[in-house]
Amino acid sequence: MQLGQQNVGLKVEAGSKEEAIRMAGKLLVESGHIQPGYIDSMMAREATANTFLGNGIAIPHGMPKDRELILKTGISVVQLPHGVEWNPGERVHLVVGIAAKSDEHLQILTNLTHVLDDSVTVERLTHTDNPQEIIERLTRGSAGDTGNGGRNGGGNGAANGAAAETDFDQFVDLTVPGHAGLHARPATAFVGLAKTFEADVRVRYGQQVVNGKSLMSLLKLGVEQGQTIRVMAQGADAAEALRSLQAAVEAGLEEDDDEQPAELNLGPKLELESQGLVGVAASGGIAIAPLYRYQRGRLEFAETSPAPDQEPDRLRQAIRQAGAELSNLRSTANQRSRTQAAVFEAHQELLADPELLEGALGKLQGDRSAAWAWQQTYEERAQVLAALPDPTLAARAADVRDVGRRVLRYLADRAEAGPNLPNHPVILLADELAPSDTSTFDPARIQGFCTAGGGPTSHTAIIARSLNIPAVVGAGEAILALTDGTQAILDGSSGKLYVNPSQADLEKARAVQGEEQAARNVEQQARFAPALTTDGHRIEVVANIGSPEEAIQAVNAGGEGVGLLRTEFLFLGRDQAPSEAEQQQALEQMGHALNGLPLIVRTLDIGGDKAVPYLHMAQEENPFLGVRGIRLCLRQPELFEPQLRAIYEAARTSYLRIMFPMIATLEDLRAAKAFAESVRLTVNGPPVEIGIMVEVPSAVLLADEFATEVDFFSIGTNDLTQYLLAMDRGHPALAQQADGLHPAVLRAIAKTVKAAKAAGKWVGVCGGVASEPLGALILAGLGVAELSVSIPSIPTVKAALRQRSLDQMQRLAQRALSCATAAEVRRL
Ligand code: PEP
Ligand code: MG
Repeated sequence: MQLGQQNVGLKVEAGSKEEAIRMAGKLLVESGHIQPGYIDSMMAREATANTFLGNGIAIPHGMPKDRELILKTGISVVQLPHGVEWNPGERVHLVVGIAAKSDEHLQILTNLTHVLDDSVTVERLTHTDNPQEIIERLTRGSAGDTGNGGRNGGGNGAANGAAAETDFDQFVDLTVPGHAGLHARPATAFVGLAKTFEADVRVRYGQQVVNGKSLMSLLKLGVEQGQTIRVMAQGADAAEALRSLQAAVEAGLEEDDDEQPAELNLGPKLELESQGLVGVAASGGIAIAPLYRYQRGRLEFAETSPAPDQEPDRLRQAIRQAGAELSNLRSTANQRSRTQAAVFEAHQELLADPELLEGALGKLQGDRSAAWAWQQTYEERAQVLAALPDPTLAARAADVRDVGRRVLRYLADRAEAGPNLPNHPVILLADELAPSDTSTFDPARIQGFCTAGGGPTSHTAIIARSLNIPAVVGAGEAILALTDGTQAILDGSSGKLYVNPSQADLEKARAVQGEEQAARNVEQQARFAPALTTDGHRIEVVANIGSPEEAIQAVNAGGEGVGLLRTEFLFLGRDQAPSEAEQQQALEQMGHALNGLPLIVRTLDIGGDKAVPYLHMAQEENPFLGVRGIRLCLRQPELFEPQLRAIYEAARTSYLRIMFPMIATLEDLRAAKAFAESVRLTVNGPPVEIGIMVEVPSAVLLADEFATEVDFFSIGTNDLTQYLLAMDRGHPALAQQADGLHPAVLRAIAKTVKAAKAAGKWVGVCGGVASEPLGALILAGLGVAELSVSIPSIPTVKAALRQRSLDQMQRLAQRALSCATAAEVRRL
């Protein structure tokens, strides 16, 4: 992109920002870049968006809808040595007018970003008599900018060169898929993967080359959907890094459908008499409640520090504390919603970005305080993002500010307490909401929210959707003047807020709200329908239970049988073993509740984490590797025999299958089968299908042999994971890493399925991962025929399976199998 001398106005005086914008526009008209009407468009844009970039620079540009008034892409620069007030307290010395037909101006923005950190350069450009100096600084490509390539981590401490990098020899050119380009979550996935390699990774986009391990740098590239990037790597594992990154980019970089407002569940629309305030629909649903203004506690800090030497350390410490906070938030969120966890993951990545810390350290000059330097740095970054033309990328500014505030709280001299939310249901009004605000909302109290700013692709909106909280964003400043306690209706589907509605409108809204609730119940109602994929394949969804009561609950939740009855639960919480008659009765009750649906009875799996005190088992040094499950039963026939008798008795009236736990060797299986058969003969019971839990690695490796001697396999991913990864499943420090979606576990499952299929047998999974929607989809894609899940997960797992084709799930499973870490699988 060219910037000619005729487009640079030196030593200009402007009485107002409007005058300055008109001058920038006039230069563009005179050079034949725009038609005069585009200047009005620049003024209109300024009225709705703030184009102040920071450090004395503003970038006025027109509205996207007026692009046809651009004759050719170009920029102009107006130098104002005395400056002009842009916003209260903010002066501008360089006005960069932008007229871009598409995204050619992003390079200029990137160069400006570097200048932003560098007060010395801005000062020089503000007073120079040489237009060429301005032209060079703004149009010079990043590559070779400082000639300091080869670093891993993106920074050299020289703030203005932070993103300048050189090319590497090994590279691959890739087209960025997805619907929103390289925005926060795909970029987070990219950076996360890049960081798993030792090699330095860089990304070239047009003239810009940035560190592929820096989230901020990637975001600043502003890569939109369908654009080509060059991914380059250098170092020991460069080739592998390129292969993995290529696979990840081609697979869509975990683009999540939640990101798209198009995916909004719009639900039934409200048609009311009154007009309502108009915003943008961000999360569907209707809320009826009094309004309440949400005000975040203010953070106060001094710009200077009495002990400047200590400020760098204070800053690093605050970043560490905020990082620990985010990591806790992410693990708690993980249990509720992957969407929310992914947001905090992206925040962790933003916080870890070397550019932020370096930027702030660079500002710690003289007696500046860490709080001031940090706030300036993140605010400048946020403004650069907010100025990007792509709304999804621009929405990431709120994330940068959220992360910034999280650190700032540790540096501030005074932090006001957070908002005191009333303990009755309300509709919140706020200027903007940060994702970390929204993620703490209790949907029972926060019935809905409406923000003056923000957009539907913000993480706040995404979280609102994951929490099912109706939300309207971008409703304008007027909402902030509304009085607390005023009754209102919020329609998240059409993006409207009705204040003081009439009785008739209230009634209408209540009726539609009722319909909506009914619509939300559909998933619940569909729980009895089979889980048929969109291309007509059926996956059986059954339940894990431990008692007769749970058998009833399982059926009511839509379970198509029981895939795992943990019979040891009948032995727990009492002081002696249940008699054979008691066991038989319990099994019969379950069979009755299931009314012909299959019930897989796992024989006693006592030992390991399931100790039964009255059995006086010997203390073992390694109980998980000791006399556990089938090993105990084979050693204690007085325990095993009554259970098997009870099973064969109950099998006369119920559809039962038998499953042995902890099978590690063929000898164990043969001994257990022989013993069961001898018991069956003594009671003259009906033949019953016999399967095994595949939960010990040896059973996976010998799956071909086991498959010929059983009727089915059920994979116990809880134990299989602990034994494959050698991580105690209950260990407080390891439990998080012992992830059932680890590729090692998935590859073991794939091998087991292959062996079973070759022998004409079926495979189920009854470990915890089957209850997670992502796990369920991957397992179905791996060829697992039956998912045995926790009772509350049944409707959700069924609904997830119904939304995809088997083919899609198979592709997902293949991607999961080629991942190297559990985190990569989870990012799918
Ligand atoms: C498993 O190991 O995955 C399993 C389902 O059994 P349990 O959790 O009872 O050991
Ligand atoms: Mg187990």
